[in-house]
Amino acid sequence: MADTKTLHDAFIDELRDAYDAEKQLVKALPKMARAASSDELRDAFVSHLEETRGQLERLEQVFASLDEKVRGKHCDGMAGILEEGKSIMEGGFDDATMDACLIAAGQRAEHYEMAAYGTLVAWANVMGHTEAARLLEGILNQEKAADEALSALAESGINEAAAGGDDEDDEDDDEEPPTPKPAKPSATKSARGSKTTQSGGSSQKSKK
Ligand code: FE
Ligand code: ZN
Ligand code: FE
Repeated sequence: MADTKTLHDAFIDELRDAYDAEKQLVKALPKMARAASSDELRDAFVSHLEETRGQLERLEQVFASLDEKVRGKHCDGMAGILEEGKSIMEGGFDDATMDACLIAAGQRAEHYEMAAYGTLVAWANVMGHTEAARLLEGILNQEKAADEALSALAESGINEAAAGGDDEDDEDDDEEPPTPKPAKPSATKSARGSKTTQSGGSSQKSKK
């Protein structure tokens, strides 16, 4: 019988999973950007796409620091999240609602990544892989920032526009609310989610 596998084996597995998840996102983010009506939301997806490409490079450096070959292993979790995102994009929503839904889908992906990288950082540290831990923490911080940027967009007018959108279903492509209301941080509860910590706690508990 083969040797029992160790935390290091699990760590390498999770790294491959994360590498594959990032590759899936490199394919999905351009579609999400195209589906967005808000310029700011589109920009957020495009800039996170650039970051995601950089994350693939950082992960390659992580593999190198461990003397491991760069390899991905299909990430079912991200595939499922993106599959749901695809249904949203085919869901026939009005522009403003679509933007709110794209944010919701994007945040699901970011939270999934935050969970994965939080674990990877902790495991790298406990095994003394300091270079890997440093690189992975850099990625984790980008995911957190991306999540927070999406929350900010949701709360700066996109959720309100979605909530107020009746049948304004005309052809105005890049319609933006010209004066987004800066106050009112409480449009809907669903697109919030920035206050998560890494300790495996639940996401949406930030406020009571
Ligand atoms: Fe990522
Ligand atoms: Zn996965
Ligand atoms: Fe991300």
